[in-house]
Amino acid sequence: MHLTTPLSQGGAVLKRYTKKFDKLGLNTFSDLLFHLPSRYEDYSIISSIDKLQEGEVVTVRGTIIDAKNSYTRRFKSIQKIILSDGTGELLLLWFNQPYIIKNLKLQTELSIAGRIEKFSGKNAIISPEYELASGEELVNTGRIIPIYPVTQGLSSKMVRKHIFSTLKSMESEIEEYLPNSILKKYAFMDIKSALWHIHYPQSFDETEKARQRLAFDELFTLQLAARERKRLWSETQEGIHFQPFSEKMNAFLKTLPFELTPSQQTAVEDITHDTQGGTVMNRLLQGDVGSGKTIIAACGLYLAYLNGFQGALMAPTEILAQQHFATLSSLLKPLGVKVVLATSSTSKNKIEETFDIAVGTHSLVGKNVTFNKLGLIVIDEQQRFGVEQRGILREKGNRPHLLTMTATPIPRTAALTLYSDLALTYLHDMPKGRKTIKTWLVPEEKRLASYAWIRKEIQENDSQVFIICPFIEESENASTIKAATKEFERLQTEIFSDLSLGLLHGKMRSKEKDTVLDEFKQKKFDILVATPVVEVGIDISNATIILIEGAERFGLSQLHQLRGRVGRGDKQSYCLLFTESSSEITLKRLKAMESMKSGAELSEYDLELRGPGEIYGLKQSGVRLLKIAKFSDRELLDKAKRATEDIGEISTLSPLLQAKIQPYLLQKVSPD
Ligand code: ADP
Ligand code: MG
Repeated sequence: MHLTTPLSQGGAVLKRYTKKFDKLGLNTFSDLLFHLPSRYEDYSIISSIDKLQEGEVVTVRGTIIDAKNSYTRRFKSIQKIILSDGTGELLLLWFNQPYIIKNLKLQTELSIAGRIEKFSGKNAIISPEYELASGEELVNTGRIIPIYPVTQGLSSKMVRKHIFSTLKSMESEIEEYLPNSILKKYAFMDIKSALWHIHYPQSFDETEKARQRLAFDELFTLQLAARERKRLWSETQEGIHFQPFSEKMNAFLKTLPFELTPSQQTAVEDITHDTQGGTVMNRLLQGDVGSGKTIIAACGLYLAYLNGFQGALMAPTEILAQQHFATLSSLLKPLGVKVVLATSSTSKNKIEETFDIAVGTHSLVGKNVTFNKLGLIVIDEQQRFGVEQRGILREKGNRPHLLTMTATPIPRTAALTLYSDLALTYLHDMPKGRKTIKTWLVPEEKRLASYAWIRKEIQENDSQVFIICPFIEESENASTIKAATKEFERLQTEIFSDLSLGLLHGKMRSKEKDTVLDEFKQKKFDILVATPVVEVGIDISNATIILIEGAERFGLSQLHQLRGRVGRGDKQSYCLLFTESSSEITLKRLKAMESMKSGAELSEYDLELRGPGEIYGLKQSGVRLLKIAKFSDRELLDKAKRATEDIGEISTLSPLLQAKIQPYLLQKVSPD
């Protein structure tokens, strides 16, 4: 077996878990080595049992002198083991894991680690890390232990075990990929040492140095990719010349029910400017949830139309595409613009008619949509799309201009270096009259009171309400839909029987979704129970309350996106968070939603709490740009920038490094 061998061919155990590893994006042994810990647990203090203090985090070595399963009413079962080391006895407890007693026999010598707590007055550790003390090396105890991002059914312990054995058995295959000159100039650790120190720490000092090395790799790769994209882009530099049509644009803006904010005005000017010159526009529009990006897209698309070109607007979900279609139609149809919709459900058939603007999902990329004069592509929530999809769409025109939009908060300095190939516009002000959304983490005992308050808000203030059920597994699968449907039925029959409710989930037919959203917009019902499919973009300005169930299952950025479904008008809006978790850190994290109002603030905080390596619990929460580097790593960002400038053509780099850059390039991939 080699580093390039797929995990599925790595023996029976790995084979059984292939799907789980897949979910973490780990396909080969090499991927395993680059699956980096999100944090560490320091179990390096080894103590004898008589010296243990409550609250201490320690490793203890001893012999099992008692082991039994007992049953209680509240928990299905409790596993109790008593460990003795000659100086005293320590109680180890697990809940509902009977196999533990099966595996750990009397007289076995164990090394265990965890936090000392009091249980019925005795020192105990609940769910300790454990391993046989007779093993040649301690991997899970007696040292600093890496904790990995995991997925359901795959524990950190299991991941740790496989990474450790890969490191040991394939060490000789690990090849350096950074040029020697860079390693020397910035005094970075070589890759082999870095991987050892990050996975099998000797000291936090060394681990930090390893992190620096690997974070540098990440930033360096992204910057090289940006440089390469820029080069590829400028090979096709000559772009379409748009006239500004200022009068018509101004007349259009006058038809809007609001005035553009100063930064929206700047954004429109930026686009007008970029599309006038000789080069192809490649601009990223960044603005927090609710800052009003859609209207900027509309302006750009209208400008393309005025210049006699077609436009495309691509959105990540069908629901969002439908909404954009409705918005653009109502804004632009009166001006004679023909807008069509292309989603997976509409574009089974070729779009035959001629059109000015096509709005759609990734279906726009498919061969049923053909453009004869594509002049501008707008990509909403661009972080949701792979580079291939963007690439193919570009191929459908002759060097069309490109505007990408995102609410993902990336600090300006970081964006400027990582996206050095893009021009940037920031929407830093919110539309006038927006009130901050009052947010509460609601304790379970106030659930009924909350329902009563919601009813009152609906009846007295004409409010509309979102109730969001979480994804049960990683995505919108059957169990999630079942849970949402059940909740919908419960609310309709037991709680809000006097009100009207709607249900929305991703597996509904697009017509149905459309109808539901439309009816909600027209206030045909008061409450919309939905899966997190409404997370991005949905704009119902009369909705003022959002209740989120299982809030602990969402990342803060995702909660922020969800919360952004309300507070889009000038009415006071509210966000109620419910959680089943009682973990201190989770509650603290959710509590942050009460005080922090901007996406940027929240994502920094999330990063701080959960560590940069933490994969957001759910796939749906979007792609993480950085795995180990932090946006606040200014110095590293600088080093990566300088190193990028010192490097010659990409083709002179090691093949391994080239392979790392590849996924970030806009590729020409043929459709189908
Ligand atoms: P996002 O940036 O999250 O995509 P949207 O484009 O959906 O935000 O805009 C959110 C809401 O704000 C929409 O209802 C839109 O009509 C409204 N809006 C946009 N710009 C302004 C503005 N300048 N003044 C008032 N409301 C605005
Ligand atoms: Mg939007």
